[in-house]
Amino acid sequence: MPITDSEKKQIAQKARLHLKICFHCGARNSISATRCRKCHNSYLRLKNRTLGIKK
Ligand SMILES: [Zn+2]
Repeated sequence: MPITDSEKKQIAQKARLHLKICFHCGARNSISATRCRKCHNSYLRLKNRTLGIKK
């Protein structure tokens, strides 16, 4: 079912992309995480928020 409400769509996309990815193992961590929950690596990056936004 497509989401027609653009405001809701933006919120959904934000929530989905608002996380950190571990450089070491690629695990997804919460935005507030300072270390990876899987391998405890502190080298986390923000997920590229421009990707995954489609029409
Ligand atoms: Zn990791």
